[in-house]
Amino acid sequence: MEILHVSAECYPVAKAGGLGDVVGALPKYLNKQGHIAKVVIPMYRTKFLYAHEWDVVHKGYTNLGNWWFEFTVIRERHNVLGFDLYLVDINGLLDREKIYGYDDDSERFTAFQIAVLDWLSAWQHQPDVVHVHDHHTALIPFMMKYCYKYAGLSNIPTVLTIHNAQYQGWMGWDKTIYLPRWDTWRWGMLDWNNHINPLASGIKCAWKVTTVSPSYLEELKYMSNGLEALFEYEKGKCSGILNGIDVDIWDPAIDAYLDNHYSIEEAEAGKAKNKMLLCEQFGLDFDKPLISFIGRLVGEKGADLLPGAIGDSFYHIGRRMNFLVLGTGFPEVESALSALKPLGQYDYNVYIGYNESLSHLIYAGSDFLLMPSRVEPCGLNQMYSMRYGTVPMVRRTGGLKDTVIDVGDKGGYGLSYNDATVGDITHAVWRATELYHDHKKMNEVRTTMMELDFSWDRSVRQYVQLYTGLI
Ligand code: ADP
Repeated sequence: MEILHVSAECYPVAKAGGLGDVVGALPKYLNKQGHIAKVVIPMYRTKFLYAHEWDVVHKGYTNLGNWWFEFTVIRERHNVLGFDLYLVDINGLLDREKIYGYDDDSERFTAFQIAVLDWLSAWQHQPDVVHVHDHHTALIPFMMKYCYKYAGLSNIPTVLTIHNAQYQGWMGWDKTIYLPRWDTWRWGMLDWNNHINPLASGIKCAWKVTTVSPSYLEELKYMSNGLEALFEYEKGKCSGILNGIDVDIWDPAIDAYLDNHYSIEEAEAGKAKNKMLLCEQFGLDFDKPLISFIGRLVGEKGADLLPGAIGDSFYHIGRRMNFLVLGTGFPEVESALSALKPLGQYDYNVYIGYNESLSHLIYAGSDFLLMPSRVEPCGLNQMYSMRYGTVPMVRRTGGLKDTVIDVGDKGGYGLSYNDATVGDITHAVWRATELYHDHKKMNEVRTTMMELDFSWDRSVRQYVQLYTGLI
């Protein structure tokens, strides 16, 4: 079976979050199971681009409304990622360093999707499935069905995976001119609340829709930034498939970012060496439990609650733990976290920024990983942390609910709480501190977590079953 993944991110070429991790891993594991999975993303100006060799496979000329442009599709020559990787270059739109955050993101991603479909129309054969990810590529199912130019592609099944439904790519109806000539009777397939809503359009037009965890799909029916009724209406074609993690990269025994490797048997000593490095680098106290946070400093992740929870923990529980935060996001949250620094001389520090290598050291060297998310479609951090023997402290939501069982429940290994509030987090911090000092229990929990299987094999089997049902 041949599957073409179309996405805005793909690790290690371009990653802003979990979407990148998934698109960098799922195709590789599909290939390992004997399928042909390919990935196409925009050609941003990232390090990976300059460090690898490429062949030009297609050149085209097309238009975004009145603007005509040339585009080039290149393919990485040596298959270094374990799948064919294609990049689409559009000068003036995609030739930038960052993935998102520009005023013309609607134009950038619409042009990208048009270029991809123009290129696909020129293929000698057709893939069995086109799999798109999040709103940046969610107009593709509509265009394949209703743009006259792509009539030849209309019988190819499409799958939309929703990694995050908060962002939907809304555009005014004035931007309808960007789409290649389409069947205007079908305007309802683009519209949601008087806007073109690419994510809503994808949900309506894709043959199947998946979310990255079963619990997230249930939550979207009553909390999805305005799309609740649509998820309820389309529930028949929706399913939740939990992400896996790339165990070739995320394995403390071989992790390329770590100097001190460890397996389950020597986890306690191995983690201690990594913790020592972190404590030296950030001026923390090795003898106290280290509770870390890694992620985007935004409301969805509950990052705004961190300053209050850290302050309250010190005040109510005492200075019995360290906190370390790695992240970037809302300036207010960044400054509130930076402002806490003088308060915690030897038991708190923060690194504002994106740092892949530091994130690996934190997963390895921390005792606990805090995730007070308000929304968590799947969440990869808790799976990485468990593989590295670090106890996740999660709010019961979305994928966190599906992957972490509280240590107080039968067979449990994590710390869970119900609400994204300072009070619930502080209580979890107290529980973490108690658990840390129960040496026997801590070792038991660590071994249980590290033995859990979050590999992609299970999820890939579910995707293959879904694709098979379509063709
Ligand atoms: P989301 O995609 O919503 O941000 P996920 O849990 O799905 O959340 O994925 C987050 C990924 O991004 C993980 O691989 C995490 O380690 C990584 N990450 C997030 N923020 C940072 C950061 N500041 N530095 C390094 N890695 C980060």
